[in-house]
Amino acid sequence: MTDKFDLVVIGGGSGGVRAARLAAGYGAKVAVIEEYRVGGTCVIRGCVPKKLFVYASRFADMFDVAASFGWSVEAGFDWPTLVANKDKEIARLEAAYVAALEKPGAEVIRDRGILLDGNRVQLAASGRVLEAGTILIATGGHPFIPDIPGAELGFTSNEAFHLQQLPRSILIEGGGYIAAEFATIFAGLGVDTTIVYRGDCVLRGFDEDMRQGMSAGLQARGIRLIYATQVRSLRRSGSDILVSFSDEVEAPFGAVMFATGRRPNVEGYGLEAAGVDLTEDGFIAVDKYSRTSNPSIYAVGDVTGRSALTPVAIREGAAFAETVFNNNPTAVDHSLIGTAVFAEPEVASIGLTEAEAATHGDIDVYIARFRPMINTLSDRSERMVTKLITAAGGGRVMGCHVLGPGAAEIIQLVTVPMTMGATKADFDRAVAMHPTAAEELVTFRAPTHRYRGGVKL
Ligand code: FAD
Repeated sequence: MTDKFDLVVIGGGSGGVRAARLAAGYGAKVAVIEEYRVGGTCVIRGCVPKKLFVYASRFADMFDVAASFGWSVEAGFDWPTLVANKDKEIARLEAAYVAALEKPGAEVIRDRGILLDGNRVQLAASGRVLEAGTILIATGGHPFIPDIPGAELGFTSNEAFHLQQLPRSILIEGGGYIAAEFATIFAGLGVDTTIVYRGDCVLRGFDEDMRQGMSAGLQARGIRLIYATQVRSLRRSGSDILVSFSDEVEAPFGAVMFATGRRPNVEGYGLEAAGVDLTEDGFIAVDKYSRTSNPSIYAVGDVTGRSALTPVAIREGAAFAETVFNNNPTAVDHSLIGTAVFAEPEVASIGLTEAEAATHGDIDVYIARFRPMINTLSDRSERMVTKLITAAGGGRVMGCHVLGPGAAEIIQLVTVPMTMGATKADFDRAVAMHPTAAEELVTFRAPTHRYRGGVKL
């Protein structure tokens, strides 16, 4: 087995696998080094198992409305069954990823890669040194755990996928999408769930209507929200964990989960020796072709801090392979990327928030709030929200936000006209499909409100 390669990829996650597959397909001799499981965060302990758990938790809402459609349901839930079935599916996907790498001839190496210089990577366990014309760093990130006393008593999303049993209650610290999604999962599966967040509302960075709607929706599902507060320390108290908060309150919980952000995997990788510079925020600095400060080393995905989403890592990996191994310089456009929160309620967005758009000239804002049809036979009062933000007078669509059932599926398709630069008039030309929630986006008449000269009218 030769130790000389055209491309050595460190990290077999979303970005690394795509880059390796394409480069091998273009005829390059490729090695992929993965220290944990091929597939990376998304497949092994991110998007995929998360969404499977979300599906499991959503039965709670379905059972809740079932009676209004005439069903009587006696429901029971078994956590070990869910975990075992999820593990089986993840193992199947991992095998498919390995096969997809090996088919075009890439070598998959189970080890930890450490840079020696711009053209050599050492394997930590075997000591083997690989030489490469080009190296791609696609090492992703890891959950950040606050440096507080007793932090080791808590866990992160990594461990949440493998809990032996569901706790009786859980405190989740954080206000981002991972906190909202796991709160939905645990609450939906019957765990008494509390979110504590130092900010004033979950989903910082999202449109305000989506944030408020998410806050209300989580509370409607019995999730306690404690804002402007942080966890100060954890200590064991019998079978519980006693949590001290920044407001001096103490309370026991069955488990504590940190969803307090993620950091790039950059430490102990020999980046300095290889002359790879970091940004001020500690990510690997790259140009528009994902090239680092060392011209033979590239980086894609979460480790570059551009947009920590699987499809973005995949796009960056593909663009890298096009650029370096298909003689077709390709840069990824990060300016218009849709994103979803698979909580209950579901939220998905693309483009500018209302607050952002209001600083980009005169705009019109169209909002529809209505009961999703599935709730109309029951006493559930929750509202779905669809929102379109356009340049004034029927101009270009600048932002689109949806809260409620199917939000992500709706926004995925809205990404197409928005990427094409669609205007309100283009949306209006589309004939509605009835009865759907998405039809609201093509049937808006007068704006709900306008901004002129930055002033809301
Ligand atoms: P990763 O997929 O993290 O892959 C990096 C790989 O490198 C890992 O397998 C790691 O083991 C390996 N590695 C690291 N260092 C070394 C080394 N020195 N040697 C060898 N191997 C190494 N994104 C979405 O788009 N939608 C979602 O719904 C979504 N949900 C998420 C839910 C959770 C709980 C989390 C944590 C993330 C979620 N994400 C989601 C984000 C998504 O998982 C990441 O953006 C994506 O996986 C990034 O891909 P990557 O290739 O940059 O890194």
